[in-house]
Parts: sequence; structure tokens; C-alpha cells
Amino acid sequence: MSRRRRIYEGKAKVLFEGPEPGTLVQYFKDDATAFNNQKKGTITGKGVLNNRISEYLMIKLNEIGVPTHFMRRLNMREQLIRQVEIIPIEVVVRNVAAGSLAKRLGIPDGTQLPRSIVEFYYKKDELGDPMVSDEHITAFGWASPHELEDIMALALRVNDYLSGLFLGIGLKLIDFKLEFGRLWDHDELRIVLADEISPDNCRLWDVRTNEKMDKDRFRQDLGKVEEAYQEVARRLGILAEAATASDTASSNVTSISEKE
Ligand code: UDP
Repeated sequence: MSRRRRIYEGKAKVLFEGPEPGTLVQYFKDDATAFNNQKKGTITGKGVLNNRISEYLMIKLNEIGVPTHFMRRLNMREQLIRQVEIIPIEVVVRNVAAGSLAKRLGIPDGTQLPRSIVEFYYKKDELGDPMVSDEHITAFGWASPHELEDIMALALRVNDYLSGLFLGIGLKLIDFKLEFGRLWDHDELRIVLADEISPDNCRLWDVRTNEKMDKDRFRQDLGKVEEAYQEVARRLGILAEAATASDTASSNVTSISEKE
């Protein structure tokens, strides 16, 4: 792990001071948590895979004009990012009912939603990240109305793009969570996509079999968690062709990380 000064440690990632002012190093751990920290575990090789998957998706999003904090991948577990002021809101976009929405509204899992739905949650672990509305966000000053407009537009754009990208590799993007930050860019404060995009914060179901290929395998003890993350990476063309879902390559993947 990096010997730089540790700025912040989250559940799945650590942020270190970057090599230049305004930059940070984002380190991806294998630790996994669910149900507001009540379930804890390790998914071997997850950090390496999420670093790669998130790099790939952030670069693709950058290419279509979605500003992100991502600069470049440094090694198997670390990426260089721009330091941003994180907006304390989790933005969830849903296409198909699952998880908390299915439970809260009594809609069967897997029901196609009439249209994409955007939800906001206040990032506050002690409160279990309560759902909030745009009114709470602007009234409490977590984001301005203009920033919130940008966030909504970016979230829907990301959803359209990623839905198509995943469909192209036989995966349905059921829902996902994004985080945004503020960044000074040429004397202008801009909203940029931050955090990560990976099977830790997306629900991805196989188009043909509806098999879950994401963190729900850990949440629901479905087994083959590493294999699912690996299969997502493989379909994205990030893992070598040789690596198949049945490989025990997660350990290989981690061992590569120690060499880099
Ligand atoms: N999610 C996340 N972090 C959270 C809560 C949710 O990344 O703290 C993601 C989750 O992986 C899913 C989407 O946001 O893809 C919607 O999650 P949901 O509200 O259904 O909550 P959950 O079922 O995970 O409790």
C-alpha cells in the first residue's frame, strides 16, 4: 500500500495525499460491507478488479463529455484522482425494481420501471443514509439548485450511456449509485463525477439468465462473488481472454498487483 499520508479511509477505499496539490491517490481495498456496516467481509481481488472497471468506465464517460475526478490508474490497486469537495449526497438511478425500492414500495424484484427514477440519499452513516428530496438538498445547502440540475442531468446521461454499454456485453444495468464533487476549473466551480463505478455500486444482471453479477452476491450470500466481478471485467475486455469465470484467477489477479 502507498506510504503517502492517509487523508480518509472509507469502507472499500482509502484516499492518500497525491503527488501534486489538488490530487489524491485512491486505493481500492478488498473489504466489503453491506446493510450499513452490519455485514463485513473480504472479496479477494475485488480492489484490483474495481480499480480496473472504474478506470475503464470513467475513461469512457470522459470521452462522451461527462467530467470526472479520474486522472489515471497508477497500479493494480491505485488511481490518481483530482481532489474534489464531495457533495454529501448519494445519487441512485434505477431502471428496474430491486433492493430497497422493491422492498419499500412492494414492487416485485425485476419489474421494469415506467421510466428511469433518480433518488437522493443523505450521506450520513450514523443515520443509515436516509432518503431525501431535492427540497432537503437545496434547503440545507448541500447543493445549490443549479448544481442539483447539473447532477440530475449528468446522472441520467451516465445511465443512458452505461445501460447501452452493459447491454452490449449481455448485462442489464438494474440500478447504480453515483457521487459527485465540486472542482475549481479555470475560475469556475464545476460538478464532476467522483467515487467509483463498479459492481460494488451497480446492480448488473445477466440478460439471458438474470443471474446477479454484482455485490448482491455478497449481500445475499449467493457465492461466487469474486467470479462475478471477474466476469464483468472479462466481458468489458479488461481481463485477459484466457481468464474465465471458472478460473480461480482472483488470486492470480491479486498476485499481479504485488508485482506492479
Ligand atoms: N448503493 C451503494 N451504496 C449504498 C447504497 C446503495 O452503492 O450505500 C447502490 C446499490 O449497490 C444499488 C443501488 O445503489 O446498485 C440502489 O441500492 P438500494 O437503494 O436498493 O439499496 P440496498 O438494496 O443496497 O440497500
